[in-house]
Amino acid sequence: MSDPKTIPSKIAVIIVAAGRGTRAGLGGPKQYRDLVGKPVIVRTLNVFLDAFSQSEHAPLIVPVIHEDDQELYLKSVEGLSGLHAPVIGGTTRQQSVRNALESLSENEPEYVLIHDAARPFLSKKLVKELLAALKQNGGGFVPALPIVDSLVRQAETLDYNIVKRDGLFAIQTPQAFRFNEILSAHRAAIHENYTDDASVLVADGGTVAFVEGPELNFKITTPADFKKAERYISAANTDVRVGSGYDVHRFEGGNAVWLGGIEIPYNKKLKGHSDADVALHALTDAVLASIADGDIGVHFPPSDNEWRGAPSDKFLSFACDRVRARGGILNMLSLTIVCEGPKIGPHSNAMRNRIADIAGIDVSRVSVQATTTEKLGFTGRSEGIAAQATATVCLPPVKE
Ligand code: MG
Repeated sequence: MSDPKTIPSKIAVIIVAAGRGTRAGLGGPKQYRDLVGKPVIVRTLNVFLDAFSQSEHAPLIVPVIHEDDQELYLKSVEGLSGLHAPVIGGTTRQQSVRNALESLSENEPEYVLIHDAARPFLSKKLVKELLAALKQNGGGFVPALPIVDSLVRQAETLDYNIVKRDGLFAIQTPQAFRFNEILSAHRAAIHENYTDDASVLVADGGTVAFVEGPELNFKITTPADFKKAERYISAANTDVRVGSGYDVHRFEGGNAVWLGGIEIPYNKKLKGHSDADVALHALTDAVLASIADGDIGVHFPPSDNEWRGAPSDKFLSFACDRVRARGGILNMLSLTIVCEGPKIGPHSNAMRNRIADIAGIDVSRVSVQATTTEKLGFTGRSEGIAAQATATVCLPPVKE
């Protein structure tokens, strides 16, 4: 984060993230929730950072956050650069925006874009269109989407009150203004409670024109919106990759083996630095291979005492998090365990459920198979267990 006074900038961007997100019913403010590996607000901020990455002057990007969310905010945006220190919001959206505008008044930006953090699918194109319109014409500009559904107003009686949809639009953000105009409009509207900034400008005698609002620029409000957002990102992840992993551990004296994240009573145990869960190790390597990110030994060196006796679920969840950190989705984990004993069949569903749980995916995306080697080789002689695995992941298209 930079001192705003040191950045010469004509454009400011206010990201409104002070809401509590109670309607999302997801426990906690929705703008900080993970959306396929990245918090919603980070996806939104990235669009603006990207839109201005080629500009001569960086814009002043000012997030407005709730005072209770300061830690959450800092944790979410860790690693992002080019952001102004966050401003603490007020009790209404309008007050929050005004706080941000006031904080920028000394910087005297010429233009300001005001955007809801919960609309992560705005496009760079929309940002550019709004700024181009603003530079050529007076007044404010908002993205507007014509309403195509029939609308009714629910009344106290059971009448079906149809509202004529002609000329009705859904108004989105970012909304684009001349900074001084919207600041003075907000100052004049101090005792009002408008739900968007174009209304504040119009109330002050300003004019507002529309640009075309993309359908994808929806506001994430409900759990169903989250699902829709996840589906959209998943569909965009067209770079499909497959990784494979293989591991062997030898038997030693004992009374149970850890396999696929569960403990199975047996007349031996597997020897190893961690809990020696050969199946989870093969899966971990398969997941790391799918993103060409080294292997289990690179990330968890056997020389490191921290991993002595460690449960191997840590390794697998670490690898899966590395995929998500790249915006990737784990599509399938497939495991084959090679041994004469213990019998895997009776435990395979428990293993699938445990692996799905560790990886954070649906159990339908986990396969566990077992085979013997017909008494041949080291597995045939019951000297140890081998496991092989494949992982399929879908990554965002690479910009090469
Ligand atoms: Mg191993």
